[in-house]
Amino acid sequence: MVRVRLAPSPTGTLHIGTARTAVFNWLYARHEKGQFLLRIEDTDKERSRPEFTANILEGLAWLGLDWDEDPMIQSERVEEHRSAIRMLLDRGLAYRCYASEEELATMRELQKAENRAPRYDNRHRNLTADQEASFQAEGREAVIRFRIDDNEDIRWSDLVRGPMQWRGADLGGDMVIARRAPADQIGDPLYNLVVVVDDAAMEITHVIRGEDHIANTAKQLLLYKALELQVPVFAHAPLILNAEGRKLSKRDGVTSINDFRSMGYTAEAIANYMTLLGWSVPEGMEERFTLSQAADVFGFDRVNKAGARFDWDKLNWLNAQVLHGLTPEQLLDAAAPLWRQKKWSLPDDPSWSLALCELLGPSLTLLGDAVDQAQPFFVCPELQEDGLKQLNVEGSRSALNHLVESLEADPWDGIDIAEAQSMLADAANRAGVKKGVVMKSLRAALLGRLQGPDLITTWSLLARIRQDLPRLKRCLP
Ligand code: GLU
Repeated sequence: MVRVRLAPSPTGTLHIGTARTAVFNWLYARHEKGQFLLRIEDTDKERSRPEFTANILEGLAWLGLDWDEDPMIQSERVEEHRSAIRMLLDRGLAYRCYASEEELATMRELQKAENRAPRYDNRHRNLTADQEASFQAEGREAVIRFRIDDNEDIRWSDLVRGPMQWRGADLGGDMVIARRAPADQIGDPLYNLVVVVDDAAMEITHVIRGEDHIANTAKQLLLYKALELQVPVFAHAPLILNAEGRKLSKRDGVTSINDFRSMGYTAEAIANYMTLLGWSVPEGMEERFTLSQAADVFGFDRVNKAGARFDWDKLNWLNAQVLHGLTPEQLLDAAAPLWRQKKWSLPDDPSWSLALCELLGPSLTLLGDAVDQAQPFFVCPELQEDGLKQLNVEGSRSALNHLVESLEADPWDGIDIAEAQSMLADAANRAGVKKGVVMKSLRAALLGRLQGPDLITTWSLLARIRQDLPRLKRCLP
């Protein structure tokens, strides 16, 4: 059975790159009828926070990426990590390195001066017992390093990138697997080691993650071999790039799923868009889809090697598609909390709010548009320049005067549309203007400007809450 995992570090809110990795993992698991698991990599004690874990889990759930089994908590497994390190030490595959930070810095400076790539020069690989004893006598602490043979030929077949090959010499020398600690102890185990131990413990069959982990994969393969663990299949998804083709970063303004949420993007549109960031739809399939539709056809054969450029127009288009597809009830569920935040009071009759949603739905791109566009229904808008200009058109105010007279004699309840049409025709007649003039003037009076949604529906909604007459009256001569 396919078992994949997302292994977020809770050092920040749910990052878009993590979310995209989550989507690919989820799609593959669901496609293969396998399992999608989570592991919280909270071993960085300084930077990990429970509220980030909560944010990540909540964000994944919001996107519709449900997981199987309780998340593994990496920090609870430090004994397992230490015992793997002990085994490597016992077998001579790892050793203690006493080189101080200053010595290592001097080493790197020299390498730089000689134009060589920075790497650990394996200086403490073969210390004698006497040498070790004298470092310890100096009170030096040691990191633990895993031996990497420069001539090691590392190969794997990547599901996205095909055959991959690395040489041990390209990995920067013997790798630190435990932080500095007194020489009789094992310091905090580090990323590459713990990932291998935990992925094996979780029986992960496929490791799907970003391309920035390729060098880690080469290192991890050496650890799988040394620890005699079952090696999973690897798939490295392309990076997400900004419009200029550089890795999307904080400077691009949005990095967290929270940012997108607060900008008014829906979970459906984000999940849909994340899928398209690196995966192309099979021929004949629309780019607008649900996660489960994508899961039906998902495979790594359609994941691109090249970086995926972030395209705001496409995300906006998808979001508009999602919003336009909502029923008035669904839109109301999404918009009502935003309206309440504005302290706008919704009429008791829910059919009014639903009718407003039905009116606004087709013109929304972001959920926030439902706030801007609903505002004139809750707060009387001021007259704008184009509205005022319309009211100064010959016959405009006199036509509105006739409308006001009809409404005062017999207020319109906003239900019977034929009644509204005949009031408009009558006002046009009496003022001696075309019906078009009355309609434009009515729009100016109700909304303050000449743009907006369908006029009769707008009037009807305002009539139902008795807001039409006061808005008309403020425009009379
Ligand atoms: N905690 C690592 C990260 O967030 C996990 C990488 C991996 O998938 O192995 O980048």
